[in-house]
Amino acid sequence: MTTTYLATHAREQLAQAQMVVDRHLAAGVHGRCLACGQLEPCDAPNRASAVFARYGRMPCRRPGLASRGVR
Ligand SMILES: [Zn+2]
Repeated sequence: MTTTYLATHAREQLAQAQMVVDRHLAAGVHGRCLACGQLEPCDAPNRASAVFARYGRMPCRRPGLASRGVR
């Protein structure tokens, strides 16, 4: 039961961290994150990477996501 909870909790944490990474990946032509407006690299993906490190995982990369602000 505890193991199941931890696995579920870990999956939820990793999925949420992945959403943060995906959302804050693209920067506009002004060099600012399209999600939060901070100069790249912004803080949110750095905080999310701590979650990936905690579980020994790497974020998934999806081709084309980073080019959203370039068009
Ligand atoms: Zn951002």
